[in-house]
Amino acid sequence: MSNMQLDTLRRIVQEINASVSLHDSLEIMVNQVSEAMHVDVCSIYLLDERNQRYVLMASKGLNPESVGNVSLQLGEGLVGLVGQREEIVNLDNAFKHERFAYFPETGEEIYNSFLGVPVMYRRKVMGVMVVQNKEPQDFSEAAESFLVTLCAQLSGVIAHAHAVGNIDVFRKPSNSPNYKTFQGASGAGGIALGRAIILYPPADLAAVPDRDADDISEELELLDQAIESVRAEIESLDEKMQDSLMSEERALFSVFLRMLDENALPSEIKEIIRDGSWAQGAVKHVIERHVALFAQMEDDYLRERVSDLKDLGRRILAALQEGDTSHKELTSESILIGEEISTAALVELPVDKIAAIVTSEGAANSHMVIVARALGIPTVVGVTELPVNTLDDVEMIVDAYQGRVFVNPPRRLRTRYKEIQKEEEQIAKDLKQYETKDAITPDGVAVKLYVNTGLMIDVVRGVQRGAKGVGLYRSEIPFMLRERFPGEEEQRAIYRQQLSHFANKPVVMRTLDIGADKDLPYFEIEEENSALGWRGIRFTLDHPEIFSSQIRAMLKASIGLNNLHILLPMVTSVSEVEEALYLLERDWLAVQEEEQVKITKPKIGIMVEVPSVLLQIEEFAPLVDFFSVGSNDLTQYLLAVDRNNPRVANVYSHFHPSVIRALTRLVKECHKYDKPVSICGEMAGDPLSAILLMAMGFNTLSMSSSNILRVRKAICHVSMSDAQKLLSEVNAMNNPLMVKSWMEYYFRHHGLGDMVKSNRMVNV
Ligand code: PEP
Ligand code: MG
Repeated sequence: MSNMQLDTLRRIVQEINASVSLHDSLEIMVNQVSEAMHVDVCSIYLLDERNQRYVLMASKGLNPESVGNVSLQLGEGLVGLVGQREEIVNLDNAFKHERFAYFPETGEEIYNSFLGVPVMYRRKVMGVMVVQNKEPQDFSEAAESFLVTLCAQLSGVIAHAHAVGNIDVFRKPSNSPNYKTFQGASGAGGIALGRAIILYPPADLAAVPDRDADDISEELELLDQAIESVRAEIESLDEKMQDSLMSEERALFSVFLRMLDENALPSEIKEIIRDGSWAQGAVKHVIERHVALFAQMEDDYLRERVSDLKDLGRRILAALQEGDTSHKELTSESILIGEEISTAALVELPVDKIAAIVTSEGAANSHMVIVARALGIPTVVGVTELPVNTLDDVEMIVDAYQGRVFVNPPRRLRTRYKEIQKEEEQIAKDLKQYETKDAITPDGVAVKLYVNTGLMIDVVRGVQRGAKGVGLYRSEIPFMLRERFPGEEEQRAIYRQQLSHFANKPVVMRTLDIGADKDLPYFEIEEENSALGWRGIRFTLDHPEIFSSQIRAMLKASIGLNNLHILLPMVTSVSEVEEALYLLERDWLAVQEEEQVKITKPKIGIMVEVPSVLLQIEEFAPLVDFFSVGSNDLTQYLLAVDRNNPRVANVYSHFHPSVIRALTRLVKECHKYDKPVSICGEMAGDPLSAILLMAMGFNTLSMSSSNILRVRKAICHVSMSDAQKLLSEVNAMNNPLMVKSWMEYYFRHHGLGDMVKSNRMVNV
């Protein structure tokens, strides 16, 4: 593609992103494309799924009357052919093609050449974009790729419009006009009915929700104060830079100050506030409007001012947000929504008041979800189409079993979900009896169930639900909740709490596992490919001072309790373990010397998360006392699928045959070298997979406290011989969905149907 085409492409994309409705986007698209490609016609047909037809939604060149009126059946005409084949159709003489269909109302008969490109979204055809010319000509490859690129962009816009119900032309009027449903991935099961409250990151213009002003004059005043403080900030910056920047380099500051003049940005912002918006929303809209205008300019210098403008907008927003706590007023019916919610942001809130969590990004095994699960908060993530900013205080139902979110639900649905909530309470009551039972199969095999911890609440619930030990203490969680690295003594006190609550039982403490999706607010690691980057032991071996302060704190915390086990995360190579063992030995000797006390040497284990470890158990075994499988990461790396990317969530499954087979072999291998092996990923907490893990012979299963009772119940009902039969059956299957359904089928037919999530399907 030429530079000029790229430039045009970029401009069209920016304009589309700034447009306010789908119809606007389509209009922009057809007008700009016909101009840029010098074609006589550019049209967009969208698929109306309900009526199974392609409807002409926008056109430059065809008769305007035909827009919205002409439609084709799925396989009809050349448009239908593009949709059917899901590929480009490029014809120099469209007339001659057997699939050519003639619509007199479009005036189409005079166009000879035809280039049609499917608009695809997540493997589904959403529509077709067509360009046509009077002259017979073959469209070039560059023309094809230009259109393909635009269609990829358009697909996102259409998907979003579908999600927010903008494609009204397709919709029959409903008695609940704003009722919408959205699909995401289930993070932590449960049902909630309530109202949305948006949690958005500070000083992020795009994330500011649309909200009506409670008191317009108060908002105007807040704006005045914010503008005043930004003005002062810029003036002082200007002064500070006087010696280090040339006057022309400081010109930006005077541009900023001019923009802050009462008649410039402030007057535009105030106009929107007077129309009823709150100040933060008004700032967002005005800045977005200007950014869109600047982006269209041909002049490079002016176009580059976009980032300055955004910077100024962020400064005003930050000033407005100072001291604004409106987004933290939670009631017990609050459904927390956001694009992304970090673990730290979540636990800062009064968590007992959060009825559910919904995010448009993230996936089912992110850290925030793991914490939400521990807290028992129904959570749906990866709801990519959720128009977060427009949902402030809107009524919602969250069905976290199915990963579904209902916005403005009709009464019928609310009634049904209230009934389900009651059934849920009944199931929870029924599970309570398993608090005091042992996990023993009907044919007498005892299985050790441990709890995963991080927060104190996990410990309390773990004890209450009869966990036989802690299989994974995620030591990064207390690190995430602080504003700086905690010191050795601070850590000792935290670890002591964990160890003493499980006195006489093993507690496996994992050393700091940060990096990838586990960032510390005070130590961000920015990497292109963070899942494969500086994380876990790779980080701590590069920072032996951090590693040692942790080890020393753990050792001191274990004095007199002697139940400490240490687990190393993200191990890839033998040399990493050797290095860590050296540091551990050194610290163990030093602490004993300093404290003048004998400390039982902790057992040391490694996590099996990186596939390389699977193939080197023989070499790791002599170095360590135990192995623990981190199935969340192992699945991610074995299947090369990001555990946090909702687009590929359908590829991520711990029922994948390669995961099941790798684990079956791993257990045998560890036992061959007489080393115990446990599993502490989410797979252990899913009753369907827990039964398979039990059959493989894992020594312990460690899980979130919210799953212990369900897994215990499953174990009490499935005999080891049945489990082993199931394992050999699924080991012969080649498809994750088949494995899962096979397990579900067994559960349904053995009185365990309430553990099968899809049993609670509500048809709407
Ligand atoms: C895992 O990867 O399975 C695991 C237990 O560790 P985390 O989820 O904390 O990465
Ligand atoms: Mg992990």
